[in-house]
Amino acid sequence: MNLELSEEQSAVRQLARDFVEREITPHVVAWDRAEAVDRGIVDKLGEVGFLGLTIGEEYGGSGGDHLAYCLVTEELGRGDSSVRGIVSVSLGLVAKTVAAFGSEEQKRRWLPGLTSGAAVGCFGLTEPGTGSDAGSLVTRAVRDGDDYVLNGTKMFITNGTWADVVLLFARSTDAPGHKGVSAFLVPTDTPGLTRRTIHGKLGLRGQATAELVLEDVRVPASALLGEEGKGFSIAMSALAKGRMSVAAGCVGIAQAALDAAVRYAGEREQFGRTIAHHQLVQELLSDIALDVDAARLLTWRVADLIDRGRPFAVESSKAKLFASEAAVRAANNALQVFGGYGYIDEYPVGKLLRDARVMTLYEGTSQIQKLVIGRALTGVSAF
Ligand code: FAD
Repeated sequence: MNLELSEEQSAVRQLARDFVEREITPHVVAWDRAEAVDRGIVDKLGEVGFLGLTIGEEYGGSGGDHLAYCLVTEELGRGDSSVRGIVSVSLGLVAKTVAAFGSEEQKRRWLPGLTSGAAVGCFGLTEPGTGSDAGSLVTRAVRDGDDYVLNGTKMFITNGTWADVVLLFARSTDAPGHKGVSAFLVPTDTPGLTRRTIHGKLGLRGQATAELVLEDVRVPASALLGEEGKGFSIAMSALAKGRMSVAAGCVGIAQAALDAAVRYAGEREQFGRTIAHHQLVQELLSDIALDVDAARLLTWRVADLIDRGRPFAVESSKAKLFASEAAVRAANNALQVFGGYGYIDEYPVGKLLRDARVMTLYEGTSQIQKLVIGRALTGVSAF
């Protein structure tokens, strides 16, 4: 893999850096305290093309390869993981899945809105009783003439409160195992669909996370995405790419932790000199720097594999596993460098740690990623 960025990739990264500095950084603390990022950020993300990366221009996308997508995701994660998550879900899990599996009609209906920011997407897989074991979901889709009628509850849905469309996974047939799950594109204003914002999150406080309740929600058969009964493999395919995006966001967190810690170590004086002079502080900085580099290289490898059309799912699990744990370590080490000041939200590292923590949980916990890697190594499924 060539680790030199092309001119185009460098320009996209610079565009993302400038965007974060202008549109996100000034508001981060206020959004975190208010438990809501400004909804207007979605339009701005759309205007600059970040919601259409890797999607074809014929559907309103801005093209670009997966490395460019990672670079933007990293910069957004460096700025605010709540904003990064909007893109990773609306573009990464929803628009890209519609582009990959949707009919021409579905692409024309949903992609221009999702890529411009006029519409927001959310991904409805998890339920109150099924998280890691997503294949056991119990939301039902029953065929009734030309329609499906949906009933069930979805939990912890990122963008859920704001979304215009939910990519919803429901059991549509009685066939055993995963084959009974189908994917549907459900407009969130469909009668019978209600949402409740989940408050009090440890991190990602600016993000609109919701519980979705579906009571006799009626959608036409044309809302089915891909073939009936293939929904679980569609979900797994979306998450395989999604994990790369989470990993890139984690690189951003770790990089932000490094930047802040190095800066602070050069300013704060104890024992008559800046703390950068103390060897144990340098050890903390060096550990963070190593985590940043290793996480970034694992993540870029996934992007490179996708862009070359090679298998990438296990590598994506490795990148997500390592980068999420690295982000937690890096933010925690940075907080140590800040001492007591790291513990209050006038300084950035406490939020980085709170935001990082969920990355080891969603889109498959660290334990689930290890089972994916272990299955690839041994041929034995230990789920
Ligand atoms: P559980 O599955 O109950 O796991 C509990 C513990 O048991 C974990 O440590 C887990 O690793 C461990 N465990 C479970 N099974 C095994 C096993 N076989 N071997 C070893 N250990 C095991 N979901 C969506 O569908 N869409 C979203 O947009 C979305 N956004 C989210 C945003 C946030 C802020 C959060 C917190 C969650 C979000 N989720 C979303 C849900 C997330 O993907 C789940 O929380 C996650 O998959 C874990 O499921 P669970 O919480 O039910 O934990």
